[in-house]
Amino acid sequence: MPIFPVFLIGEEAEQQQFVVATDGLQHLRPTDSPIEEVLRRYLRTESIRRVHQPVFRSMVMRAYENQCAVCSLKHPVLLDAAHIVEDRHELGVAAIRNGLALCKIHHAAYDAGILGVTPDSEVRIREDILAEVDGPLLEHGIKALHGLKLRVVPRVRNERPDRDLLDLHYQRFIAG
Ligand SMILES: [Zn+2]
Repeated sequence: MPIFPVFLIGEEAEQQQFVVATDGLQHLRPTDSPIEEVLRRYLRTESIRRVHQPVFRSMVMRAYENQCAVCSLKHPVLLDAAHIVEDRHELGVAAIRNGLALCKIHHAAYDAGILGVTPDSEVRIREDILAEVDGPLLEHGIKALHGLKLRVVPRVRNERPDRDLLDLHYQRFIAG
């Protein structure tokens, strides 16, 4: 698990080794500089986010039993743990209620605003896409989902997608 950034914060010449910090600047002596404080906070957030990413994936995959929430595809190599609200947003927590297991195509469609999910867990497809005529992926893999409920949700109620988080994403989907 590569971690970035990494800081060399000291040299221990006698042991012929360096001291490495993987968690930002927290081992440096504070200088009360506001810039350093902002950097410190940023690095802390970054390292927490990066370390949590694989944990988030495994939690979401377990909750959805390795299936795409939208189409129920069951191949982990084709599945992502998608954030309902993206992790750079303040509400974009790395919790299962902010996650959806989605196959690659439905993840990309969700992030791109081609596919939306209402707070009642119904799938919506963008209007111009519904009007388009194309091959089987568009017809069966995307357009046919319009108006259907999510096919897979976690068995445990508090692991299901959070209505408020779904709504936050859905309002942006509607706005286009
Ligand atoms: Zn899918």
